[in-house]
Amino acid sequence: MIAPRLEIDLEKIKVNARTLVKRLALQGISVTAVMKATLGAPEIANALRQAGVKTLGDARIENIVKMRHRGVPGPMAMIRSPMISQAARVVKYAELSFNTELEVIRMLSAAAQIAKRMHGIVLMVELGDLREGILPKDLHGMVREILRLPNIALKGIGTNLACRSGVSPDAVNMRELSALADSIESTFGFPLEIISGGNSANLAWALSGANTGRINNLRLGESILLGCDPLQRQPISGLHTDAITLVAEVIESKVKPSQPWGTIAQNAFGAPSTPKTHGHIQQAILAIGRQDIDPLGLEPPQDVEILEASSDHLVVKTGRYAYPVGSEIAFRLNYSALLRAMTSPFVSKLWVNRTPILQSPPTLTKKPRLVSSLQEK
Ligand SMILES: *Cc1c(COP(=O)(O)O)cnc(C)c1O
Repeated sequence: MIAPRLEIDLEKIKVNARTLVKRLALQGISVTAVMKATLGAPEIANALRQAGVKTLGDARIENIVKMRHRGVPGPMAMIRSPMISQAARVVKYAELSFNTELEVIRMLSAAAQIAKRMHGIVLMVELGDLREGILPKDLHGMVREILRLPNIALKGIGTNLACRSGVSPDAVNMRELSALADSIESTFGFPLEIISGGNSANLAWALSGANTGRINNLRLGESILLGCDPLQRQPISGLHTDAITLVAEVIESKVKPSQPWGTIAQNAFGAPSTPKTHGHIQQAILAIGRQDIDPLGLEPPQDVEILEASSDHLVVKTGRYAYPVGSEIAFRLNYSALLRAMTSPFVSKLWVNRTPILQSPPTLTKKPRLVSSLQEK
């Protein structure tokens, strides 16, 4: 079978999305599914729609355009502040965009007038993580300016935490967002439809049973795709953590010394890690590399250990088994590895739809040969 490949189980992704949509609905919170790690894959977009997700979001307009051209229905949101150079495309393809700069919103207004349509705006507020966001003291002034702009509808406010500085969403910063919504409404006298509290990192807070205040939307990517809470990288109960797996093929399999010999300098990517083992090991090379994955973001099967990766080679140590040339090894991925694998043209995408088994371990696709003579000191 073609390798390397991502095996993407649409049923498991659907279960993850439906579970989160239902749990959050109990708190009055809707889900915007964030597609950016999938490059806007229409197969996944359609699965998410079937799971009850109303709005799809993406940080790249190209992904939104792709979903539209492939017939994905329903509202779409541009969740990164649009580039001025892309204003016309954003207005054409997305109903909503998340913004922090008046110049950009002015351009969206101009583009929306030309296109003769309304464009919705959510203003992102800075609450400590120091990525995108308007400082709370500047928010009212910004709202006043936006209300004057033709063809622009101010739909709400939002915030994004835990992405740059790892600031956790908690009762304090979420209460501040709720209070900002209240103060805009009372000052300007109109209701805000969307109070978007954050991303997958908000789930622990949102599902803790705490008062969620005015927050009525979350933008979820990683938790839907990987079933994982990004704050502690722990599995979320009831969700599949193996909806997407990476399969790579062995191109060399040999018993080799674990320590290199010769004069040691840097390798292609900086200082090589010093091997911890001595003596001989069963070593395998997989035909995949840093161009396709983040080697630190792969979780190998139990008796496989990742030793090093270069552009095109992933070197692993295998324990009791020797993986013959041509056999395959399946890995789970974290967000970083998923993002790169999805983006690599060398990794093919296989849509699978196996019967869901909750949090099953990755399985080997070919049975490895047991090497009993292997000596390890
Ligand atoms: C990527 C992104 C998200 C989704 O984050 P996850 O951790 O994958 O849930 C939400 N909001 C914004 C603004 C983003 O850029």
